[in-house]
Amino acid sequence: MRTFAYARPARVEDAAAALSQPAARAMGGGTDLITQQHRGILAAESVVDLRGLGLDAIAAEGEGVRIGATVTLADLGRDEAVRERFAVLHQAASAAASPQLREMGTVAGNLCQQVRCWYFRHPDLTCWLRGGDTCYAQVGDHRKHGLEPGDCISVAPSDLAAALLALDATVDTSSRPQGIPLADLYRKASDENRSTLALAPGEFVTAVVVPRAPDASAYERAGERHAWSFALAGVAAARFGDQLRLAAIGVSNLPRLLDPADPLAGLPGLEQTAWKRRLLSGLAGQALARVSG
Ligand SMILES: Cc1cc2nc3c(=O)[nH]c(=O)nc-3n(C[C@H](O)[C@H](O)[C@H](O)COP(=O)(O)OP(=O)(O)OC[C@H]3O[C@@H](n4cnc5c(N)ncnc54)[C@H](O)[C@@H]3O)c2cc1C
Ligand code: SF4
Repeated sequence: MRTFAYARPARVEDAAAALSQPAARAMGGGTDLITQQHRGILAAESVVDLRGLGLDAIAAEGEGVRIGATVTLADLGRDEAVRERFAVLHQAASAAASPQLREMGTVAGNLCQQVRCWYFRHPDLTCWLRGGDTCYAQVGDHRKHGLEPGDCISVAPSDLAAALLALDATVDTSSRPQGIPLADLYRKASDENRSTLALAPGEFVTAVVVPRAPDASAYERAGERHAWSFALAGVAAARFGDQLRLAAIGVSNLPRLLDPADPLAGLPGLEQTAWKRRLLSGLAGQALARVSG
């Protein structure tokens, strides 16, 4: 078993300083980080537990809501105001993972979790996304992977990301407290930088802000089981007046906005994933029907 140093600072500045050290990693509930560490996927020498920072509140802000980075998925799913005003977020938070994981997993940890790909998670393989030169999925089994060709065909797994993208949320970070669009938290990995997160070294998420409540919203997902199962695909829809926003996970490397008039645009499918186009089309149709005025 690999070991690492552990710190639980009480101030954002102290956490940022601790995270600026090489091989230091932010931790929320640890449900993804610790398994990655034990499998040697990431070489964290120290973990900085963010749960002592007091970032665990859900509070009304203007016409919207501010959600602290370390709010658990369970607390988000239980919040009455979120249930009433942001149905898509309530539904996504309540559907993710399992009850036990939702009690531990945090909002920011969920948004920043690594992709789910059985080659990426294998302790003895170093695939392209982990810094190697081969995408094993493209030459092997990619039945559950994405619909978008690229260097890495794994899929974004965060149910919350789809809901928050549809809600046009922003993310506050330790060095950008004024907030950035949620979409800008993510980036395409490249040969030079294999990260799918656009965070500077030491930078971490402090809160998510949803600026206003939609007139209607809904989340549709399909997994192999009802619980304890990642979404094969998940589609979030939100309607603001006559404007529709549609977002998906499970279909592309990053959480992705879809065109409500043509949800499959830009997602041609791969040799083994063409079946997912039918799934995505069905989920998008259901989500849009639930929010239509
Ligand atoms: C069996 C199983 C099934 C699952 N099913 C689902 C599912 O259906 N849907 C779904 O959405 N998820 C699913 N998950 C993933 C689970 O929800 C995540 O592991 C969890 O949400 C991560 O939250 P955490 O707080 O434990 O993150 P951690 O494990 O603490 O961190 C995860 C990653 O985020 C980084 N991080 C944490 N906090 C911050 C921050 N504030 N700023 C920047 N980076 C940060 C960490 O460095 C790490 O890289 C499943 C997991 C398992 C094990
Ligand atoms: S799909 Fe991505 S994560 Fe999976 S093997 Fe290929 S490069 Fe690695």
